[in-house]
Amino acid sequence: MAATILDGKALAKEIRAEVARGAEEFHRRHGRSPGLSVVLVGDDPASQVYVGKKETAALAAGMHSKVVRLPVDAPRRRLLDEIARLGEDDLIDGLLVQLPLPSHLDPIDVQRAVPPSKDVDGLHPANAGRLLLGQPGGLVPCTPRGVMALLDRAGADLCGAEAVVVGRSNIVGKPVSLLLLARHATVTLCHSRTRELAEVCRRADVLVAATGWPGLIGREHIKPGATVIDVGTNRIDDPALAERVLAGQPGRLARFHKKGSALVGDVIFAEAVEAAGAITPVPGGIGPLTVAMLLDNTLVAARAHAEEGRSRSVPR
Ligand code: NDP
Repeated sequence: MAATILDGKALAKEIRAEVARGAEEFHRRHGRSPGLSVVLVGDDPASQVYVGKKETAALAAGMHSKVVRLPVDAPRRRLLDEIARLGEDDLIDGLLVQLPLPSHLDPIDVQRAVPPSKDVDGLHPANAGRLLLGQPGGLVPCTPRGVMALLDRAGADLCGAEAVVVGRSNIVGKPVSLLLLARHATVTLCHSRTRELAEVCRRADVLVAATGWPGLIGREHIKPGATVIDVGTNRIDDPALAERVLAGQPGRLARFHKKGSALVGDVIFAEAVEAAGAITPVPGGIGPLTVAMLLDNTLVAARAHAEEGRSRSVPR
């Protein structure tokens, strides 16, 4: 039987509407809108699209938005000065530096410069450490939050479930694993050196793929009835690869041949949909939830800043 399709787009719409209501209420109470700033270094076309989407989404939610663009050869000092300026700006609650950065800039070094209370990507060691220690109050990375929200909406029973995460990046794989662990799943974290990947994945009640390798996960990786979350977002233009990963999707394959490219996940959808109990599509799965969670993190940060401001103004 074909799997239930988990509609990330619909859930993202609900979350964005909820955030917009929260932003409106925030404005009523505090006389300003929550503010999000994105710093983009260079002119990577995919990053430009992502940054544009974030700005549009922030404005649509009634937030203040500020995009700062720096040239591809911007020196480290210039970037850190810009981050420091935005860190001091009381109108900015969420501050993120779009990744990937040009090779002369170290993302971990840059991330440490973002004040933890504005770190809506959840990558600062203070926030990552809170997540690791299970301490509340930190900002949690957006894509992993989106994965958890969709699993909850799907009614996935995580307590005691076998969860396998493929990919161990700081932004997706590791935090997803920690969030699943916090919900009492038994978590296996796989990566490029994992032996017998298909066998390990077939143990999973919940399988999360986040590798950036189109078509890595096929029928043989999926336990019948598993919930499959495909985080992968890969633009492909190789016809042979398209024939493989879009097999069984004649409409999408025809569009690929017309356009010359397609956006696909890490999972071969037509194979997985026959075996899984529930599955996310690409596009329309986790992608829209990432942006929704970015807005939610910004609102969370704004409320914390407002709270902090109030406690500072109370005489001690
Ligand atoms: P990274 O490149 O940082 O990490 C990829 C991970 O996959 C690494 O841990 C790597 O292992 C692992 N990996 C690579 N090849 C294999 C393999 N053959 N078998 C098992 N594991 C493998 O990627 P990101 O985490 O940043 O992104 C992953 C995917 O998710 C990309 O397609 C990206 O576009 C997408 N993404 C989507 C988002 C969304 O909003 N939907 C947001 C963020 C990312 P190792 O550590 O050993 O190298």
